[in-house]
Formats: sequence, structure tokens, C-alpha cells
Amino acid sequence: MISAFIGLGSNLHHPERQLLRALEELDALPETRLHCASSLYESAPMGPQDQPDYLNAVAEIRTGLTPLALLDELQRIEEAHGRIREQRWGPRTLDLDLLLYGKQVIREPRLRVPHPGIARRAFVLRPLEEIAPGLLVPELGEVEELSAACADQQVRRIE
Ligand code: ATP
Ligand code: MG
Ligand code: MG
Repeated sequence: MISAFIGLGSNLHHPERQLLRALEELDALPETRLHCASSLYESAPMGPQDQPDYLNAVAEIRTGLTPLALLDELQRIEEAHGRIREQRWGPRTLDLDLLLYGKQVIREPRLRVPHPGIARRAFVLRPLEEIAPGLLVPELGEVEELSAACADQQVRRIE
């Protein structure tokens, strides 16, 4: 089993419910169990600003799925949540990004791991450091250092 980290985000149709249901769905994937999940975090939207704030979280799973099989499953869950892709970084019911897959570096047309945005996004790094302190992100460095470099971005942890 490989440890993989998934970034979850939602800003439509009851974001909290979308995220909690997605965590259950991750746990129900074949050859996969949910190992732990972060608190929920609130942040301002990236890209277009005329959309609601986001709720985000990060989950660690242990999985026997290959990276591409896991991506297929994540996209299937997004679709089941009614995700519609209209505008880049536009509002969505659910976004599931594969942040890390073990220590692997993957550069394929459909899949880049570590996720290309990981080092620039406080809404990913705060929850990631909560559940995996000291984690080394391949080719980028320690999660705390990456997170400190995004200190200017406002992210609010929800109790
Ligand atoms: P961003 O990737 O910047 O967070 P987004 O999540 O809104 O933006 P999506 O529309 O969810 O983007 O995904 C666009 C494409 O990104 C997908 O079709 C997928 O093949 C590709 N992709 C590449 N690497 C990854 C990854 N690590 N996790 C999820 N999707 C990825
Ligand atoms: Mg995303
Ligand atoms: Mg995505």
C-alpha cells in the first residue's frame, strides 16, 4: 500500500457536505482506505473572484491503486458530485487533486505529481502540515517551509 495525499475543495451546494461525503467515498474506493483527514479550511477563491469562498481539506489514503487508476476514481467521484467544468478555476461542487503519491514524481499528460500548484497554495499546505508534519514534498522541500513561504495568504481553520 502506498500513502497518497488528496486535496479536496468545494464552493458550491453545501461545501461542507460535499467534502465529508467525498471523504467517505475515498474510504470506499477499491484497495483503498482513508488513513486520516485534516480539519476544514476556508479560503478566498483563486482566479475568478466573483464566486463563493472555498472550503478545503487534505486527506491521506493508503491505496493499492496505480496513480492513473486513482486519478480515474477521483474524477468519477467529482462527476458523481455534479462537477461541471466551465471556466478555469471556476466554482465547483468538488475538486479532488492528487497531491502526492508516495515519493513518486510523475509527469504525464493527464497527471503531474507532486501536484503543480502544491508549493504556491496555502489552502493545500496548511491542512497538509496539520496531518503530515515534517513531510518531504519530492523536489520541493519540507511542508512547513513551503507553508511558511505562503504566509501572506489568508486561510482560516474551521473548528
Ligand atoms: P488545478 O489543477 O490548478 O488545481 P483544477 O483542479 O480546477 O485546477 P481540474 O479541472 O480539476 O483543474 O483538472 C484539470 C486536469 O488536470 C485534469 O483533467 C487532470 O487530468 C489534470 N491533472 C494533472 N495532474 C493532476 C493531479 N495531480 N491531480 C488531479 N488532476 C491532475
Ligand atoms: Mg484543483
Ligand atoms: Mg482538479
